[in-house]
Amino acid sequence: MSVRMSLNANGHDLLPRSADDVVVFAEPGEAPLVAGVHWSCAACDQRPTYVIRDGAVHVQDPCPYPMGITTEITLDVPSGKLIVSDDLRDVYDVDFDAGASYNTALGQAQVVEAMAALGCAFGPVGNSCPGLYREGENSYVIASPVLDENDVPSLPEKDRLAHIVTDVWAYSIADFEDWKSKGGASGTRLLGDYTVVDVAPGTYKFTLHSGERGFDRYAADTVVFAHIERVAPSLES
Ligand SMILES: [Zn+2]
Repeated sequence: MSVRMSLNANGHDLLPRSADDVVVFAEPGEAPLVAGVHWSCAACDQRPTYVIRDGAVHVQDPCPYPMGITTEITLDVPSGKLIVSDDLRDVYDVDFDAGASYNTALGQAQVVEAMAALGCAFGPVGNSCPGLYREGENSYVIASPVLDENDVPSLPEKDRLAHIVTDVWAYSIADFEDWKSKGGASGTRLLGDYTVVDVAPGTYKFTLHSGERGFDRYAADTVVFAHIERVAPSLES
């Protein structure tokens, strides 16, 4: 028989945004089947084990990422030139299927960390076509502005240093000279468009928010995917 019950997800991200209860198929002595939920948690990628208790259906084990995942990586930019693009996989490439599903926050965080280890600041942003905007003297954001009723964007155009065409639903940023030295084809882009942006040489921390619980890339306000700030001057300068 099937009944509607409320779901205690135990911190897992299992419900579509519009739903608050689920349909449960329960037979005595068998594990309950739950309809109307994601196959696996959108944060941790675990398939839930359900138990029925006190008239509700519960996920047995807690989610390790109940707040989702904020991913922090650093990028060394000794040249003071950033190459900003959607796709730098001609130089920096990892196996997107090596870990958890790339459809989950955990899987995306794993790819971001693996890309960072190669020297590429990578982050999934959906098909939002965001920009790189100056925020402070040595701080930046990757964000999508919204337009007000007079078509004035919520982030000043003069602060936009690069536009990121998201054919692959991500941004990719690296030290321009590092990219070139590893075979990046300067001037004859293999995979997409890029912009070179001058910054102070140094180490930059990228804080990526798109894996955080409740992050809404379709929000009616400015969407900030990542904060970027210089955390150390370049060792070579
Ligand atoms: Zn989970």
